[in-house]
Amino acid sequence: MRWFLFLLAACAGAQVFDAVPQKPEQGQVVKVTSDKAVSARINDRTIKLFPQADGPALGLMPIPTLEKPGKYQLDFLDSSGAVLHSMEITVADAYYPRENLTIAPQLSTLKPSPGEQATVGKFRDTVTPERYWKEPFDAPVPGCVTSPYGSTRLHNGKLTGDFHAGIDQRGAMSTPIHPITPGVVKIVQKWNLRGGTVAIDHGQGVESIYLHMSAFQAKEGQQVTTSDVIGYIGSTGRSTGPHVHWTMYVNGVPVNPGQWMKLEPCAAGSHPAAPVHHTAPKAKSTATTPPTAPPAAAPQE
Ligand SMILES: [Zn+2]
Repeated sequence: MRWFLFLLAACAGAQVFDAVPQKPEQGQVVKVTSDKAVSARINDRTIKLFPQADGPALGLMPIPTLEKPGKYQLDFLDSSGAVLHSMEITVADAYYPRENLTIAPQLSTLKPSPGEQATVGKFRDTVTPERYWKEPFDAPVPGCVTSPYGSTRLHNGKLTGDFHAGIDQRGAMSTPIHPITPGVVKIVQKWNLRGGTVAIDHGQGVESIYLHMSAFQAKEGQQVTTSDVIGYIGSTGRSTGPHVHWTMYVNGVPVNPGQWMKLEPCAAGSHPAAPVHHTAPKAKSTATTPPTAPPAAAPQE
């Protein structure tokens, strides 16, 4: 019996179950690592862990912006779905600000192109096994941030019930836009709401999308790195001036890119003149919701 207990302890000691950070803010990502688990779960969101060349398997658990601050249980699962290990994760309030936008009537009544919402919805729910992303990530343009991630959005003083799911960065018309990390181009489209759009799959649940472009450089299916140009800053779609709106998704959830790269806010005095725009309306969810999809109440865009 003593021998058996010793063996059990030795085996348990060799197992890796880790999560960083264990006190994430709303909108951040928890890196989940294990040499035994194949997936991890908080509430009804389950994410896959992928084998890595240089260590234990890694999965990225997004904490949605609207997740209530407090304690959550992170479960490490085996291939049968059995819980191998559990850990407490404490979500901290990120205190995202409120932001009012003045939207002209002709912009607020713009409708998405046929297929626009469905194509983006399908893109963000896709998780591919090959990893292209690598840290550190880079901002897509050098310009300062005119509108940060996570702010509660009001249109003409009215709450929209939504928040800014991406970053707006200022830039002169035709400024080159680069991907935030290597990946494969999945979408190159001219759409009514988003305007000139490029979307990139960085693999293992990481994706990014860039809107309002004036022209494209990338082609669908192309492999790109951060030194490639994918397109150019414009003001197409629902936009009031030249800027790039871009969103980073992790396992289908828009997350705060500030955790992954350095972003400079524009000086406070320059803000009123800054080009701003909408948040695109929610992508319609499909009838079959995959287990990794955000709950219905979660922000979509
Ligand atoms: Zn934006």
